[in-house]
Amino acid sequence: MSAPAPHILVIGGGSGGLATAYRLRRRLPQARITIIEAKRWGGVTGTSVRDGFVLEHGPDSIIRVKPAGMRLIADLGLTDQVQSTAPAARHGLIARGNRLIPIPEGLYLMAPGKIAPFLRSPLLSWPGKLRMACDLVLPRRGEFARDDESLGRFVRRRLGREALERIAQPLVGGIYTADPEELSVAATMPQFLEMEQTHGSLILAMMERSRQAALAAGGTTGGKVGGQSGGENSASGPRYGLFASLNGGLQRLVDRLVEVLSRDCDLRLGVRATHLHRGDHGGWTVGTNNGSIDADAVALALPAHAAAELLTPADPALAELLTTIPYASVATVNLAFSAADAPGVPQAAGFVVPEVEHRSVLACTIASAKYADRAPPGTVLLRAFVGGARHEDALNVDDDSLVHSCLTDLRRWFTLGEPRFTVVHRWPKAMAQYTVAGGGHLARVARIRAREAALSGFALVGNGYEGVGIPDLAAQGEAAAERIARSWSA
Ligand SMILES: Cc1cc2nc3c(=O)[nH]c(=O)nc-3n(C[C@H](O)[C@H](O)[C@H](O)COP(=O)(O)OP(=O)(O)OC[C@H]3O[C@@H](n4cnc5c(N)ncnc54)[C@H](O)[C@@H]3O)c2cc1C
Repeated sequence: MSAPAPHILVIGGGSGGLATAYRLRRRLPQARITIIEAKRWGGVTGTSVRDGFVLEHGPDSIIRVKPAGMRLIADLGLTDQVQSTAPAARHGLIARGNRLIPIPEGLYLMAPGKIAPFLRSPLLSWPGKLRMACDLVLPRRGEFARDDESLGRFVRRRLGREALERIAQPLVGGIYTADPEELSVAATMPQFLEMEQTHGSLILAMMERSRQAALAAGGTTGGKVGGQSGGENSASGPRYGLFASLNGGLQRLVDRLVEVLSRDCDLRLGVRATHLHRGDHGGWTVGTNNGSIDADAVALALPAHAAAELLTPADPALAELLTTIPYASVATVNLAFSAADAPGVPQAAGFVVPEVEHRSVLACTIASAKYADRAPPGTVLLRAFVGGARHEDALNVDDDSLVHSCLTDLRRWFTLGEPRFTVVHRWPKAMAQYTVAGGGHLARVARIRAREAALSGFALVGNGYEGVGIPDLAAQGEAAAERIARSWSA
């Protein structure tokens, strides 16, 4: 006699929860799957259209080199909807004073892979460049030094304070809207630790990567590498060619997942889980604002702090561990202009603003330049980021004040008239912080995963664990589906 079909409950209908449900559906076709979502399908992932402008509320790009993201898109039949960044905008800028300075060709997040463009760039002072060059001769960190190192300490040690303040903090810290003194290098940028150990120098390692990439591309070491072509070994800049979106924005991914899942899963919007405990039937009972749900297995696809709240009755120790992952709040401000009111906005993907500039804008996407379909002809669409781990107080104002401070900042770098309209989206406690505290993020996640493994029919998916991007969540969704499927067939 075959085993009865399991009932699996996915809690949270953000991109992580929907991807998990999709993988569960494929992995366990016989299962009954329910997904509950408190507010809106997609969570922080969402797009709206106003007067022909395509406004991303949260994420706007998927990085191609993490394969689970593109795999999900392909499996959903959306490959023909993938949109690359516009070739003319495949570079970024860093603010310095009133200027926006192009990221030098060959610079990868913190270390230059090409010397000449870097030396010519006004991004750093000459003493700052000389200090960076010390990386070529400084000893590598001893094998005995095993503690998790913060981005701040690592970059100051290898490349100097100016490189941290002007390059690494805005480019690396900015991805996580993080405090560089707290951000774990091992959890976020382990490739740089490996470069130090294998080459003794980040610059030498980057130059070697540039050389290898040029050889792989069939060029010479002096030839143009990466950047525009966006090969995986590209050593150029933040590799904008590696980013992709979908025609019409990332809402399309959410809509497609909901469409596919609606065919044979039970999707319940407006249902908020309140607590979780082991049910009498050996599975789980989930309390909600709308009655309780019994399930054989549960996937919690939530920010770690939200998962902690639900888990307190079932596993206080795991809940406690989850609360040790801090989150920062952030807001996006979409600003739409007529082109005549926004002359001189650069043709670039966007720019980042070092903290030492003391601005409220952390970064700004030039959305109308970055992707082809984001704004009608004759217009400009900007999207500013405000908040983050060190500047949450910047969000303690009303929307009008937030827009006003963004405009004041942006007018420092280019002329802007009055926007046609602006739209603010606030994301409280949405950006997980991978910190060095308490033994470091990797150790913390290892403890969480060990505890999770001890609970049968249970999986955690979220940006608090192994990566914050949509592809990371897609990968976690695959792993969670596999884990639940195995526990069911065991
Ligand atoms: C402004 C911003 C820009 C970003 N840019 C990018 C980018 O360009 N590329 C990229 O890859 N990543 C980006 N990220 C990161 C990425 O978007 C997120 O990490 C990811 O989308 C989180 O997905 P999730 O499903 O884990 O969480 P969420 O999207 O937060 O979804 C969780 C869902 O759970 C629901 N929920 C919460 N509690 C309960 C409950 N008790 N019961 C039921 N439902 C509940 C919530 O309503 C929510 O819908 C960005 C994030 C932000 C905030």
